[in-house]
Amino acid sequence: MPTRPRPKLNLRTLLLAFAFISAFATLANTFWVMFNTQKAELVENALQSNEAYASRIATSVEEVLSSDLDRLRYASTSISDSFADQPTLKNEAHRLLRQDNSFNSVLVSNAEGRIIASAPDNLQLDGQVLQSRLPLSRREPMISDAFHSLAGNLVVFVSHPVFSRSGEYLGLVGGSIRLEQKNTIQSLMDLNVREDGAHVYLVDSQRRVLYHPDPKRIGAVLLTEPIVDAALKQNHGSMQAVDESGTEMLAGYTSIPSSRWGVISQQPLSIIQASLEATTIKVAKGVAPLGLFGLLMIWWLGLKISVPLSRLAESAKRLDAPESYERIHAIPADYFESWQIRRALLLGANLLQEKIGRLNHQAQSDPLTGLANRRAMEETLALWQETLKTFAAVSVDIDHFKRVNDTYGHGAGDETLRAVARLMRQASRPDDMLCRVGGEEFLLLLPNSSISAAADVAERLRATIEAADLDTVGHITISLGVAIWKMGESISTTLEKADQLLYQAKTQGRNRVVSEKGLTSTA
Ligand code: GH3
Ligand code: MG
Ligand code: MG
Repeated sequence: MPTRPRPKLNLRTLLLAFAFISAFATLANTFWVMFNTQKAELVENALQSNEAYASRIATSVEEVLSSDLDRLRYASTSISDSFADQPTLKNEAHRLLRQDNSFNSVLVSNAEGRIIASAPDNLQLDGQVLQSRLPLSRREPMISDAFHSLAGNLVVFVSHPVFSRSGEYLGLVGGSIRLEQKNTIQSLMDLNVREDGAHVYLVDSQRRVLYHPDPKRIGAVLLTEPIVDAALKQNHGSMQAVDESGTEMLAGYTSIPSSRWGVISQQPLSIIQASLEATTIKVAKGVAPLGLFGLLMIWWLGLKISVPLSRLAESAKRLDAPESYERIHAIPADYFESWQIRRALLLGANLLQEKIGRLNHQAQSDPLTGLANRRAMEETLALWQETLKTFAAVSVDIDHFKRVNDTYGHGAGDETLRAVARLMRQASRPDDMLCRVGGEEFLLLLPNSSISAAADVAERLRATIEAADLDTVGHITISLGVAIWKMGESISTTLEKADQLLYQAKTQGRNRVVSEKGLTSTA
């Protein structure tokens, strides 16, 4: 199977990333929805309030104009009888002019449009001809669009026809309002300045600005304004549109029927955006402490979930280590999955340890007798030498074992080997090392033992074997060689010595112990 590269991501990173991303996505989504809902609401409110405002202003302008017309109607009836009397007409013109400063000039014209009386006198209008013939031909009360007067001023002209008692059209009486100078419409508008960044302006049916809070704009013709279009074509309404300067505007509009003018109240969209941003910042500041607390909680929970798993994963790498069972046991597993995995790992560690133990035993012991094998013997001797532990070595060989095999068969021979091993175990102490080093050759290693103590053990063993009545084969004997390890001597030298002494025991007639000092013991 191809090996897969170790993943770079771990559970903790994944969990934290997941938690942070979902928290931020939720927060961003909430903000986005809140921002847009709030924006839509503010825009709708602004549109409505601008429409209402434009309508209120339109009503006021209408009232001003109709009261102007009322005054002119009154004047027209009062001069109809004395239309031929120039001084009376002049008096009336002066009276109208003074009345409430509504008009900048007042004039009376005959049916042909020639001015027969006017005020103030300094304008010297008498004798001149009206610029527009429209009021003459229409013969009805009229409010004109803006135009440049004979005196060169931008004005609108409010006029009323004059009829004789018999209904004959005599001419008209009218007053002009100078737009670029203080006038009643301007006063009315200036009274209604709004504080929310909105402003109001007034246009005539030819799209010319009659009033604007910025006096420089008065007289300008707004050809491309969609809001002006709407204000002139429809009764009232509201819209979001870009004005001539390229600014996005929220506008309400109302038309004035008597004059066919339009009133527009508008404010830049950016004002709403600024207030929205301020609200959003306020909300963000309010949310921040709780949000931070939430993130800390997420962090803490992320750790709580991931730490046991990562520790379990770490331990799983070293399941064969002797202390792994205890280490896994100490890992906190507070939730079901971690508890389950820990249980599985503990089981696994247990099984592995058992198996390793079995393997160790198998690798170190002789399968027939269960005694240590040559490898285990070598390892033990190496360790003793390292720790400078003194020891005695007893070499053992069964006498005439070939005969046992030959007489009773190999199976009985094996059984005999097992019996000898058992008897050796009985004759020795727990610290002693018992090895089967060859077919029917054994080695006893006795730590911290003197030569005489070892010789005693050897003799006891020899006597025990001799005395034992074994199944099938009956009695057998063994020969033994006893040597002691001396400081500075190599292990192999000691073992060779023991073998040589065993050989001596054989040559001396078997069933005996030959120890290093030359002590011989026989049955
Ligand atoms: P000696 O007294 O000189 O030791 O005579 P001996 O017959 O014991 O001679 P030796 O030690 O040389 O012979 C060892 C015999 O042990 C050879 C073999 O048949 C037998 N043997 C070796 N290993 C085993 C084994 O695992 N099982 C059995 N049944 N016999 C074994
Ligand atoms: Mg032998
Ligand atoms: Mg033998």
